[in-house]
Amino acid sequence: MRGGDMQGLSLIRDRLLGLRIDPRTGIVASARQVPSPNCDDRPPGAGIDLLVVHGISLPPGEFGGPYIDQLFQNRLDTSAHPSFAGLAGLRVSSHLLVRRDGELVQYVPLGRRAWHAGQSRFGARAACNDFSIGIELEGADDVPYQPVQYVRLAALLTALSAALPSLAGAPVVGHSDIAPGRKTDPGPAFRWSQLRHWLRAFGGRDLQVRTA
Ligand SMILES: [Zn+2]
Repeated sequence: MRGGDMQGLSLIRDRLLGLRIDPRTGIVASARQVPSPNCDDRPPGAGIDLLVVHGISLPPGEFGGPYIDQLFQNRLDTSAHPSFAGLAGLRVSSHLLVRRDGELVQYVPLGRRAWHAGQSRFGARAACNDFSIGIELEGADDVPYQPVQYVRLAALLTALSAALPSLAGAPVVGHSDIAPGRKTDPGPAFRWSQLRHWLRAFGGRDLQVRTA
């Protein structure tokens, strides 16, 4: 495809899906902004060259409540559900969340370090939070993700790699890939082939999506 066509395609895609990313502020314009205090500066010189896909639901397997926002803002009432007891004092966040209906939520600006990966390793490099962007999907390991979530995620990844040159050709992995034995999300229900399909459709084909 010619350069002009590519540019036109990405304009249409961004208009359709409302994805505008300001590389200076690291804000995704169409995302609902829910600022999390659980972030800090990336280490000096750390580039952003890894994309990490997560799955989260609170309570586990239940969707649509306010609890993810509350967890990432340290205002979750851990007495609200028995499963929340273990979350007391947890300080976590992600850059972005794609909800079941496709709604996009942003908790941390892209340039800041979100606390999503925990103890983790990608190849020879540990501490993946330093150099990655973390995207949560509202979901559970064994519950099929919604079709609109794949579309939204692929559009988002494509827009991210266009906005941040360091993400061109970046690997896209699951949390379970960088924290094996400790984390299982996004789980077997997440269909990487669907993500690849939509990335091809949006022109984000240079991203290195994990196989299987
Ligand atoms: Zn995760």
